[in-house]
Amino acid sequence: MFKVMAVNAGSSSMKFKLYEMPEEKVLTNGIVERIGHDDAIFSIKNKEGKKITKVLPVADHGVAVKLIMNGLIEHQIIASFDEIQGIGHRIVQGGPYFADSHVFDKDTEDKIESLIPLAPLHNKPHLIGFRAFKAALPKVGQIAVFDTAFHQSMDEADYLFPIKREYYDKYKCRRYGAHGTSHKYLAEIATKKYLHNKKDARILTLHIGSGASLCAVKDNKCVLTSMGLTPLGGIMMGTRTGDLDPSVLNYLVNCTNRSCEDLYQEFNKQSGLLGVSEVSNDTRDIQAAAEKGDPKAKLAITMWARKLAQFIAAYACRLGRVDLIVWSAGIGENAPYYRKAVIDECSEFMGLKLDDKLNEEIALGKEGIISAPDSSIPMVVIPTDEELMIARDIVRILGLK
Ligand code: ADP
Repeated sequence: MFKVMAVNAGSSSMKFKLYEMPEEKVLTNGIVERIGHDDAIFSIKNKEGKKITKVLPVADHGVAVKLIMNGLIEHQIIASFDEIQGIGHRIVQGGPYFADSHVFDKDTEDKIESLIPLAPLHNKPHLIGFRAFKAALPKVGQIAVFDTAFHQSMDEADYLFPIKREYYDKYKCRRYGAHGTSHKYLAEIATKKYLHNKKDARILTLHIGSGASLCAVKDNKCVLTSMGLTPLGGIMMGTRTGDLDPSVLNYLVNCTNRSCEDLYQEFNKQSGLLGVSEVSNDTRDIQAAAEKGDPKAKLAITMWARKLAQFIAAYACRLGRVDLIVWSAGIGENAPYYRKAVIDECSEFMGLKLDDKLNEEIALGKEGIISAPDSSIPMVVIPTDEELMIARDIVRILGLK
């Protein structure tokens, strides 16, 4: 029995989850938020599962790591730091270099650093988080788990953009995708539990949260995913546009005299459901507004549902046959209203049919089938668990026993 920790370091936050392995038992989890502020917030679950929250100054990620480690001792979750035998870091961008998780050695560190221009908001804080843990626990093995790794199995024909080849050769400009750890987890569970390890299983995994992506999975390998060079691509999301005619950017730069960078930030942070509804990026608020008759909220839901339905049909075409559709993440797991809106858009063409009662019942962490028996393709909700995948990879990559 030993303990491992999954870490997700952001620019001003650090999330953690501690497991006892190989039992895969969650011992605690928590987060340090507002790192760099005098009123940072540290939350941790104590042994009774009660969330304990403190507001205090946290100057940097190094202080956050000490806070987390001392919190584990203070709440008697561990008796000594030695009990933690491995740490796994979620890394958003692994570029063309990583098709699997990897030991966090100097080469891994350098490659993640070289990819900062592709994911400045993520890779930089991931490295800061890794270095802070390395300073605090120099003897503990650490690994990097990449959101892009699962998508490295895509064909060139699927990952290249229709632009001059030199941009790929010189700058590695291509589709990398994201949410790979989640898609991999969902495909693995789906194949085992719902398709009885069927050979050549073909699955569509829908990771639909505030950020959202689809993945076409064949024999547990990704053949196509909807996010592109960055997580801005693909379907319409909470605040992101998803795929857009590239001339929109050029046109708006000319019309508004605003910079390309400024509009690009807006496409990331103030577009999608938020931009169209002018209500919120949260599906609950938009649904409430739509139910009161707000036309912009209704339009946002229709646009969102149509785009996702169109991607489902396109991805089914890429797979040739679909054995199972898996819904997951914030909206996919919790929002029957939105699942129905999507299926209403593609049911006539694809023959998909929800069981309305099951669709309503399966939410808030529940797993189960939501399709009607006569649906052309069965549909299931599986709550995703990226941290568990990280914990499993720590054990596998570090060879812990
Ligand atoms: P991300 O990880 O990209 O931030 P999540 O997967 O956590 O996103 O999804 C968050 C989104 O899920 C929220 O913005 C909201 O739109 C939706 N969501 C979460 N819970 C519910 C719920 N109970 N009902 C409807 N929508 C929900």
